[in-house]
Amino acid sequence: MQRTFLAGQTRQSMRDWMAGNGQPAYRADQVLAWVHQRHAADWAAMSDLPKLLRERLQASFNFPSLRLAQQQGSEDTTRKFLWRLHDATFVESVLIPANPSLYGDKSDRHTLCISTQVGCAYGCKFCASGLDGFKRNLEPAEIIEQVLAVERIHHAATPASKSRLVNNLVIMGMGEPLANYVNLMGALEILNAEWGGNIGARKITVSTSGLAPQIRMLADQPWQFRLALSLHGATDEVRSRIMPINRKYPLQELVDAAAYYQTRKKGMITLEYILIAGVNDMPEQTLPLARIAQRLHAKVNLIPYNTVEGLPWQRPEPAVQTAFLKRLQALNVTATLRREKGHDIDAACGQLRLRVEKEIAALQP
Ligand code: SF4
Repeated sequence: MQRTFLAGQTRQSMRDWMAGNGQPAYRADQVLAWVHQRHAADWAAMSDLPKLLRERLQASFNFPSLRLAQQQGSEDTTRKFLWRLHDATFVESVLIPANPSLYGDKSDRHTLCISTQVGCAYGCKFCASGLDGFKRNLEPAEIIEQVLAVERIHHAATPASKSRLVNNLVIMGMGEPLANYVNLMGALEILNAEWGGNIGARKITVSTSGLAPQIRMLADQPWQFRLALSLHGATDEVRSRIMPINRKYPLQELVDAAAYYQTRKKGMITLEYILIAGVNDMPEQTLPLARIAQRLHAKVNLIPYNTVEGLPWQRPEPAVQTAFLKRLQALNVTATLRREKGHDIDAACGQLRLRVEKEIAALQP
């Protein structure tokens, strides 16, 4: 019998399962509390459930759906996790410590950046995730469990701590989140629900490389998620050079969709702009970038490029980065220059996974 993933169950689907197995509804809440709030790592931990019920649950559901394959920490305590999925594929999450200039407000403690696909089909020229092509979409449970697994690791290290570690989520890891729209929405519904992850919608940032139709769909959802647009070029010429998606949805179409999002959600957009030497860091890019930011009432996050092994792109000199920032600010744009955390730990998305997959391939006879 095909088993489904426990972490992807909603309160209703869990109650339906309990009813179908002659169990009272409160058992569903007990299971969900073990999964989302009580850091259970396996069935044995769910000590207030009868053994027979646990055995039946185990026969119906897979839990957990991912295992830690590797963990890297850096000096500034950014930590990167490589997860092994049930089909021996890998995805990554990155835990970034408190930094008010990132996403959300000053009370931020930890932001977790999570993946939505194994690999990526969008082939942005500067990105490690797309280097090896697209493998598959993540299931809702596999998206959710990246958060749960980090919480479990935190809880195991500090058992006395009662509070959650992750209170801010960015959907910006491996993959194009809006290309896995249905599963992502399923995961976010559970991560946002009070009985589930209980992470406020305004603490969740969904990123996209520019899927204009899905941005409009997201705008029509009831949740107030933040939207991060991976712009990286403020003219079609520059953007198309590094992001093939721009040929399908050119800037005009993308910015129109983002403006629609802005009108529905009011001030929830950030523009991500990775500064790449000689590609998009020229002074001429600042005026069109400022125009887009002003139209969307958006803040601009400038991120100096992290070099990726096997790719030719370079990060601009610090003086060039600062000059770009200053020009934007002179044009009345709210902009920050993010000194990338985790530069020393393969922090650009997809790098750790690629390296480990290569190592595993090398071990094959
Ligand atoms: S930047 Fe994002 S959309 Fe582009 S290839 Fe990388 S993971 Fe895919």
